[in-house]
Parts: sequence; structure tokens; C-alpha cells
Amino acid sequence: MKMPIYLQEPPEILITPEGVRTDGRGPHDLRPIKMTVGVLNRADGSAYVEWGGNRILAAVYGPREVHPKHLTLPDRALVRCRYNMAPFSTEERKRPGPDRRSIELSKVIREALLPAIFVDKYPGTVIDIFVEIIRSDAGTRCAGTTAASLALADAGIAMRGLVTALAVGRVGDWIVMDPNHDEDMYGDVDVPVAFLMEDKEITLLQLDGPLTEDEFNEALDLAMKGADLVYEMQKEALRRPYLVVERSVAGRES
Ligand code: UDP
Repeated sequence: MKMPIYLQEPPEILITPEGVRTDGRGPHDLRPIKMTVGVLNRADGSAYVEWGGNRILAAVYGPREVHPKHLTLPDRALVRCRYNMAPFSTEERKRPGPDRRSIELSKVIREALLPAIFVDKYPGTVIDIFVEIIRSDAGTRCAGTTAASLALADAGIAMRGLVTALAVGRVGDWIVMDPNHDEDMYGDVDVPVAFLMEDKEITLLQLDGPLTEDEFNEALDLAMKGADLVYEMQKEALRRPYLVVERSVAGRES
């Protein structure tokens, strides 16, 4: 269990014997999720994701010229990622600028996305990924990875497929989908997972507490089920702008 880093009192119980959680969800339910692509017209690709109380913007620039030049890779694109929490994104004001956690999460998100990107198609260039947490509510690394994958697709970067990330966890004896803030702070285990959805390759797997082998397998199965649902939402978000165009063309023809 992590030390509480926010001001709210811990809830008396995290999950009832019947499996009702502090936000009213059942053990295997996702939080409400909304996704939109193409939200920033200055960036080459972008996405905005609402996931429970999380509000996350992802932006992608590139492939473009590398600065500083000495970082250039002659045979592939350099991929950089910056995860950043706005000072107003947390209950207690977060000190602006990078810290150990944001440096770790930038690395984790980059590594979760990298296997999806055809970096050898863009030699000598850089692809910059920015993940900005505007409001945080647990699971930001996963929601941020999911948003960044959409932003990469929106930028037209050649990819093997979309990356979908979500966390599962253990609260007492329950394996739960998509832990909320209470569960992240006071639950027993948090398991962030990312999949390259084409072939369900795992590109991120973290575990911050003990699970038996059976619990681990149950958690992974649940993560795959959750990822299938989130993946459908990602594809729908990418299709939506084209459906609007299609409808307006159809409207003009009729
Ligand atoms: N958090 C916070 N201040 C911080 C870091 C984290 O309030 O400096 C909160 C934030 O809501 C975050 C949650 O704690 O979503 C869980 O953080 P964790 O490090 O487990 O990463 P996450 O679950 O967001 O991927």
C-alpha cells in the first residue's frame, strides 16, 4: 500500500462483500471513458481522453528534424516522450517541472509505445510525444499511453497497430478492473498493462504488490477483456472525424 499523497480521508471500505466499489462500479467494470482525436491543430497529431476523473491531452510532433543534431539516429526515428502533470491536476498543488515519477512514467510510456512504431521508416528524424495530465484520478500512465497511441495514429505515423493500456488490481480478495483513486491509494495491488492490440503483445507490465499465480492470471485475463473494450473506443474515436466528412458529403449529394 502506498502512503496517501492526497488530502482526502481513506474510505472505510473499498469494496463490499457483494463487490460494490467506492464509485458504485462492480469489480469488472471500467470507469466511463471518452476519446477524441485531432483536438490540437498546431500539433501533427493529438488526442484528448477523459477516463474516470482523468483529463489527458496527448500531442505528437514529427517525424521532423532532430534537435540537438547529435541525437540523430541514421537508421531509424528517435522517439522521445514527456509525461507531465499540470500543477493543478492533483488534489495538492504539484510542484511544476519534472520529478522522479514523471521521468519514470515518460520512460514507461515511451517503451510501451515503441514496439508499435515503424521507426525504420523514418531514419534521421524525431517523433516527439507529449502527455499532459490536466486532471489526475489514478491510472494516468495507462490513460496517457492510450491517448498517446491515438495521437500517433492521428499524426499518420506508420504503426503495427494501436497500443491500449489499462490497469487492473487487487482489493482484498477481489481482482478489479481499472482501479479508481481510492483503490490506487489504499488497495493492495496495482497492475498497469499495455497491449499492442494487433496480436495482444504486452508492451508494459508493472506490478506493485503481491499476487498469487492464479490471481495474476485472473488479473491478466481481466486486463485483456478491458483492453478489448478500450480498443473499440480508440478505433471509434479515430473513425469519427471521417464519418462526419462522409455524412456531410452524403448530405450534399442527396
Ligand atoms: N498523484 C498525485 N500527486 C502526485 C502523483 C500522483 O496526486 O504527485 C495521484 C494522481 O491522481 C495519480 C495517482 O496519484 O493518478 C496515482 O499515481 P501513480 O503514481 O500510481 O500513477 P498512475 O496510477 O496515475 O499511473
